[in-house]
Amino acid sequence: SSTNSIIVAVRVRPITPKEESEKQKPAIFVEGKNISVLTSIGETHSFSCDNCFISDSLTAQNEKHHQQEQVYDSLAKPLLSQAFKGFNTCMFAYGQTGTGKSYSMMGKIGNKNGLDQASGIIPRFCFDLFLRIEELARTPTAERLSIETEGPYVVNLTKCSVTSFEEVQRWLSVGNQRRIVASTSDNKRSSRSHVILTITLAQSFQEQVAGKLEMVRKQSRVNFIDLAGSERMASLSVGVRRQESLAINLSLFTLGKVITALAEKKFAPYRESVLTWLLKESLGGNSKTVMLATVSPNAAHIEATLSTLRYSCLASKIVNAPRICETPKA
Ligand code: ADP
Ligand code: MG
Repeated sequence: SSTNSIIVAVRVRPITPKEESEKQKPAIFVEGKNISVLTSIGETHSFSCDNCFISDSLTAQNEKHHQQEQVYDSLAKPLLSQAFKGFNTCMFAYGQTGTGKSYSMMGKIGNKNGLDQASGIIPRFCFDLFLRIEELARTPTAERLSIETEGPYVVNLTKCSVTSFEEVQRWLSVGNQRRIVASTSDNKRSSRSHVILTITLAQSFQEQVAGKLEMVRKQSRVNFIDLAGSERMASLSVGVRRQESLAINLSLFTLGKVITALAEKKFAPYRESVLTWLLKESLGGNSKTVMLATVSPNAAHIEATLSTLRYSCLASKIVNAPRICETPKA
């Protein structure tokens, strides 16, 4: 695959204690970057990806939160340096409800002492981002650097300026709280909505250009997206909820169409949903993008697992065109 291809990683969640007590057998096997799925009629479907994560034991009892750090280090940490170079970056989680999208993307936010072992990609990324900003602030070339975050949101968009990791943590818990409120009024609702966090990183500094000092301004966006559950929802909801759930179905359906079209190098219908419109640059455009496909190891979820893995194969065929977003000033 080309260096500008979307990077596709697969994470298999551990078997839950309930599944274990029901003697559910894993139907998914990982060897390096290759994944095999064994169906009940004895067929094996094989897939390969750029990176694959599976717990040693597969059971949640010995759940290894340290894998959170490993997932971050391999997938999202490289995006941080890209963001500072001026590239737009994006990471999105795709998969059936209950397979670990939110656990991977958010996990525990951490506390005033910093990160938690179970912290996911977003808190870890924001933590490292401010470390990096502090380091840069000490170097004489760093003129000004600011970050703005948007979201996370369920229905409404919040935009705010942040100056420290603690501030980001506060906003993340506000966002999570809103999700919790939304999901108690409608049990499954949180898994039906997309959560999007956009960080805008603006840097301006002096640089030697052809022998003289010039002001250079770079601005890049980092998108983190925890998508609604990819399973087709047989929705029984009515009224506003129904409208909302139709909209989310449409957005996932359109996302599928966009991914398929891009993989086949055809015209992509970005405008058919808000989600794909928001993801326009991230899919097939000016961005370095990572897709995290999350799956269940359980044989009972094999249909959803195969569908997620097929999508991720398609996504890995998408080639983006990232470029540094830089404007030298007079
Ligand atoms: P999703 O967002 O895809 O619906 P969640 O992230 O809410 O799924 O995960 C469902 C449950 O499984 C949560 O209790 C979560 O803590 C747990 N879980 C998911 N993935 C892992 C993992 N890799 N290791 C440990 N626990 C996990
Ligand atoms: Mg979730």
